[in-house]
Amino acid sequence: LASREFKRENTVVRVSRNVEIGGKKIHVMAGPCAIESRDLMNDTGKIVKEAGGTILRGGAFKPRSSPYAFQGLGEEGLKYMEAVGEKLHMPTISEAMTVEQVELLSKYCDIIQIGARNMQNYDLLKAVGRQKKPVLLKRGMAATVKELLLSAEYILSQGNYDVMLCERGIRTFEDSTRFTMDLNAVPVLKKFSHLPVILDPSHGIGIREHVGTMAKASIAVGADGIIIEVHPRPEEALSDGPQSLLPEQFRNLMKELNLVAKAV
Ligand code: PEP
Ligand code: MN
Repeated sequence: LASREFKRENTVVRVSRNVEIGGKKIHVMAGPCAIESRDLMNDTGKIVKEAGGTILRGGAFKPRSSPYAFQGLGEEGLKYMEAVGEKLHMPTISEAMTVEQVELLSKYCDIIQIGARNMQNYDLLKAVGRQKKPVLLKRGMAATVKELLLSAEYILSQGNYDVMLCERGIRTFEDSTRFTMDLNAVPVLKKFSHLPVILDPSHGIGIREHVGTMAKASIAVGADGIIIEVHPRPEEALSDGPQSLLPEQFRNLMKELNLVAKAV
């Protein structure tokens, strides 16, 4: 169902508030890695909206490497983000880590994210396939493009056709960056599949200074959008501060992205 053989024309995923992903317009999903407080979501939402971002991101359930690290605010956090989305007329995206969380996510958010660590959690894939909200499926850090497409198939085969594929960096022998963002995946996915492709340069390179460069590369290589971490005070962030853009960097990047989008 994910293949071009099954469906020739590009899929346009319709999100609430008239946002369409996979069409002519490039979408920027931005916000903090984690929803840390009501104030943070208010402040960041405003920054994202004013700079031209179209979707607000924020994690309420965080898949942290350490069990002692901040795990997210859960439902309380989802309420904060929903309120900001409502106020700014922006759709929101957040991650579901378990089957039990899916109902909550589909209640409060407009797009459900499946994180890299859960790309092959097949019960979770089936669960998001059984509900109606669009799904952003992130590629596992050690998964091939084929495996990503097979995971998308799990969601599609349950009846949810609103699936976006996300390259967020894979593990290679390279250790000078957090992950290696596989730009090759974009033309390959575009050839094999009709689904929209989103890139995540924040996790993809993991170094604030270089995130903008890879964001521009993402648009140049043909992505339908990007998902990017922004924080008003990254040094205080409870998650992924070192890769979160400062508001000023984000504003400048948005201008540059518009230029790149015009050129491609
Ligand atoms: C995130 O978006 O903050 C995240 C945890 O992403 P990934 O699953 O790609 O690591
Ligand atoms: Mn993150």
